[in-house]
Amino acid sequence: MKIFKTVDAIQHYLQNDKTQKIGFVPTMGALHKGHLSLVEKAIEISDICVSSIYVNPTQFNEEEDLENYPRTFENDVLKLIDYRNDVLFYPSDKEIYPEGFEAPVDIDLKHLGNTMEGKYRPGHFEGMLNVVHRFLKIIEPDFLFMGQKDIQQAKIVEMMIRQLNLNVDLILGPIVREIDGLAMSSRNKRLKAEIRDKATILHNTLLWAAENIGEIPLATIEEVAMNRLSIPDFKPEYFKIVNAESLHSVEEYREDQSLVACTAVWADKIRLIDNKFL
Ligand code: AMP
Repeated sequence: MKIFKTVDAIQHYLQNDKTQKIGFVPTMGALHKGHLSLVEKAIEISDICVSSIYVNPTQFNEEEDLENYPRTFENDVLKLIDYRNDVLFYPSDKEIYPEGFEAPVDIDLKHLGNTMEGKYRPGHFEGMLNVVHRFLKIIEPDFLFMGQKDIQQAKIVEMMIRQLNLNVDLILGPIVREIDGLAMSSRNKRLKAEIRDKATILHNTLLWAAENIGEIPLATIEEVAMNRLSIPDFKPEYFKIVNAESLHSVEEYREDQSLVACTAVWADKIRLIDNKFL
């Protein structure tokens, strides 16, 4: 596996052969099987799989979360080699935000900017979009691989690709879970043991919602779900059932529309998100 730390070096390498289809998997590292499932998919579909590890400071809402974000570079490299990833981009902040760099992306996020993650993490999506845009310009991939785990992020990136007419196909991978159902996340490493055990409440509540869809009014499901998630040490921010395509709120259940339930919950001091197609 080739590892590049500078924009010049990776661009020089990738531009050698324009006939190769490039698949790109952006990550913030502390890799788990969710990330690696995207690498596997990228390898399957593309000629070169480029992964990146970059903890993007502009998409964090709290300094403490940024400082404590797990960084396990050596281990990540071993995993990527194991999965036969071809190229790893591991840039510094200076490479991504050189002096005089101006955030180029100013797109209208519409309702996606102020619902769910947009509402509770102001500025997060703007930071995320700018770094994804910067990576797309540097790497020029044919395919971009992202996880359904961050479904709102994926929808917003899809919107950017459309609005800016970018020449890349977004491919979404399913959520990879631990055996007990907890969605894999780099932040899970930071959960205390007893909190980690109780964190199955997110997936269990999503399963409960899926079982009761069509039986109970949607607003009641959302309300009961919020109560179910309010166990000691846990504080839900939202539990919303939305249209799976637009992520618009849905008032009434109809069999012909696909829905997704999305939730964000503070598990002690760690914020977890999860979702499930219903
Ligand atoms: P992150 O390192 O958290 O920024 O995630 C990098 C990519 O991996 C994003 O596209 C995520 O949606 C995806 N991802 C994170 N967790 C999972 C998971 N449990 N299953 C599948 N994909 C995931």
